[in-house]
Amino acid sequence: MIRSLLLSLLLLFAASASALPKASLVSGGIAVLPLEPDQGKPEFRFRGKPVLITHDDNDKPVAVVGLPLNLKPGEYHIEGSYGGRKQRVKKFFTVRDKQYTTQRITIKDKRKVNPLKQDIDRILREKKRKQKAANSWNDEEPDTDFLVPVKGIMTGSYGRRRIFNGQPKRPHSGMDIAADKGVPVLAPADGVVVESGDFFFSGNVIYIHHGEGLVSMYAHLDERDVKIGDHVKKGQVIGKVGATGRVTGPHLHWSVGLNGTWVDPSLFVDKP
Ligand SMILES: [Zn+2]
Repeated sequence: MIRSLLLSLLLLFAASASALPKASLVSGGIAVLPLEPDQGKPEFRFRGKPVLITHDDNDKPVAVVGLPLNLKPGEYHIEGSYGGRKQRVKKFFTVRDKQYTTQRITIKDKRKVNPLKQDIDRILREKKRKQKAANSWNDEEPDTDFLVPVKGIMTGSYGRRRIFNGQPKRPHSGMDIAADKGVPVLAPADGVVVESGDFFFSGNVIYIHHGEGLVSMYAHLDERDVKIGDHVKKGQVIGKVGATGRVTGPHLHWSVGLNGTWVDPSLFVDKP
């Protein structure tokens, strides 16, 4: 009896201890910064954008800050206030250097690497929609204890510099999970679908806003099972793995964003 009680307490502790994403003070990583408790509602910004503020196991407030992939090593800070007061507060942190590897990829559909003139308008329109989705905001504190969105092999491919058909392109802003076409993709946490479409590079793509700027994105889907404005529940099927857009084969491209920047999704799923 006591033993099972202890065990369930341990399990409970283990479950709640993994709720925050893993901190990683590198470009493309996440800063998890403790804030002052009992000072009123904290509101902080990083480089002008509001940051996610949630609570740790002891119910103390923490800021969870996305660090852009192109951030240079050095000292940075978030700035804000408590309880709407005028007094400004800064929290400093240091970002270390991280070298990401380079990957060479051959894409058969050359138009996906060197778009035609008529593709450019579409790409620019889609870029605006993507930026809007990535910068979503509401004041609902999100569940940061993510499920892995698809059963498959997770790769450490976030941040890789990529050379498509011999041409250097933008580094990889998400994680690729190898899975067969048709495998269900699950919402990692509750949220609202803020974007859904068939885009030139991303193929069938869905963006979910989980609250306070925490956004997740699912690309190259074979099928989209939700639409813009839908409220999704943690574990709900939102689509199926596919090979649409710029791909070499079926897989899920998964991105996770904080304060408008894409960070390493593995920090949300492999925790200490
Ligand atoms: Zn990818």
